[in-house]
Amino acid sequence: MTPWPTHHFTADDLDAFHTEALSNEMQLHLETCEDCRRLVVLDRQVLAMMNRLSSFGPRDGFADRVMARVTVGSPAPVPVLSYPRFTRPRIAALSALAAGMVTSIAWSTVNRAVLEGWLDRTSATLWNLGASLWQQGLLLLAAQPWYDSIRSVSGEPVRLALIAAGTIGLYATGLVALRRLVTPSAGSVSNARA
Ligand SMILES: [Zn+2]
Repeated sequence: MTPWPTHHFTADDLDAFHTEALSNEMQLHLETCEDCRRLVVLDRQVLAMMNRLSSFGPRDGFADRVMARVTVGSPAPVPVLSYPRFTRPRIAALSALAAGMVTSIAWSTVNRAVLEGWLDRTSATLWNLGASLWQQGLLLLAAQPWYDSIRSVSGEPVRLALIAAGTIGLYATGLVALRRLVTPSAGSVSNARA
């Protein structure tokens, strides 16, 4: 037989006990553990003693006295334009970039025919790839079970116009909602003096 796990009461368990939100597991533990029962009794005594303490609040004019000690500096000027500082690594990186661009332009000017050949081949390859992807996409779309129903619905001009209007309406609602979210509220609203 495995021994009962000795998870004694934690501070959270004590809080849960006082608010009568103790879990069944810990409730069962409390019934079998002498130590934890003693802890609960002691904790009750501490709480009772704390309840008898008088509460402290700041005297009148506390905020004024604090603010009298706070020095508020004048606002620092903000430059209209700011540039990054030219450190040695940044200058090296900029020089390397400029040198690379000059080299690239020079090479392209000298080897113009070679470059144009590459570009032609690359664009032809990309064009073929795009065309085949488009065809595959169309085939995939036509193979979908809902494709025919969409097609039949969109075949009627009135329904198509309704769908378009609904889509535009949804889009406009989304825009208005987004604008409402990002617009800051006008003026400060304080709950403290309400
Ligand atoms: Zn215990």
